[in-house]
Amino acid sequence: RAKAEGQSTVRFFEQEMDAHVEQRMRIERELRNALAAQTIVPYYQPLVSMAENRIIGFEALARWQSEELGVIAPGVFIPIAEECGLIGELGDQLLRRACMDAATWTADIKLAFNISPVQLRNASLGLRILNILENTGFDPHRLEIEITESALVDNLEVAQRVIDQLRQTGIRIALDDFGTGYATLRQLQTLHLDKIKIDRSFVDRVSGDNESMVIVRAILGLASGLGLITTAEGIEDAEQLAYLKANGCTEGQGYLFGKAMPAQETLALLKRPLSGSVAA
Ligand code: C2E
Ligand code: MG
Ligand code: MG
Ligand code: MG
Repeated sequence: RAKAEGQSTVRFFEQEMDAHVEQRMRIERELRNALAAQTIVPYYQPLVSMAENRIIGFEALARWQSEELGVIAPGVFIPIAEECGLIGELGDQLLRRACMDAATWTADIKLAFNISPVQLRNASLGLRILNILENTGFDPHRLEIEITESALVDNLEVAQRVIDQLRQTGIRIALDDFGTGYATLRQLQTLHLDKIKIDRSFVDRVSGDNESMVIVRAILGLASGLGLITTAEGIEDAEQLAYLKANGCTEGQGYLFGKAMPAQETLALLKRPLSGSVAA
């Protein structure tokens, strides 16, 4: 009887594995279809200037609603695209689309765009980005590229070269999810970054958790000392906003100001007064 039970447990795990592998294969297949049909599109989340109390840009965030599988989160399909060697094509497609969407905004509104560490391993990335800017006529000074700390761990030399190449054209570089990865303080100093984005996990706890407040204040002090712009991610309430603003954070992003929205909704938002702002 024990043996029979053991066998059924094994069978259960095998079925679980099969289901997982099958779902993964289904997503990969649909991902290829979506790339061909260009149905993965950027949505746009507002970036707000703390000093000016207005929207100064949008971050493009990939959204995929598959007819077969429903909504799939970028946290799921980006890693699969990376593993299947499709991230380069997907990234190009999204950037092209984002540059065209952003062309409808006034010239003072910038576009932030995420680049995965896998893309940054490729030394030709800089050229590909510049090509897309040229073909869409988008001003490099309005583009901000977001990279994560793991991109630096993977291959610092190539990453540094691509960063320098992009910065020479006026593109700004932001270090995303700061505080969760392995960037060293030395790298902050030597990498020629323009901005750091404080990860949502710290901002989350800014109301109430004293230690998170100390950490956030220290990051803001370090960044300003190094001449870096700071964005706080994931601001959800006025209390967090007030603390960040009081401690010199330059920019904010989060549900308090708005979630990522389809391109056609951005123009109306730009015309409305900012929601969620605190009196200066
Ligand atoms: P990220 O670049 O750090 O983007 C911020 C994430 O936080 C987004 O999740 C956004 O929807 C979410 N967020 C923003 N404000 C709030 C808030 O106030 N509360 C909460 N709970 N969440 C908030 P999303 O869109 O699911 O994207 C997840 C990650 O997937 C991104 O993190 C980025 O690393 C990656 N990603 C998304 N789009 C792309 C893309 O086009 N290319 C690449 N390479 N990666 C992408
Ligand atoms: Mg980002
Ligand atoms: Mg982030
Ligand atoms: Mg994140």
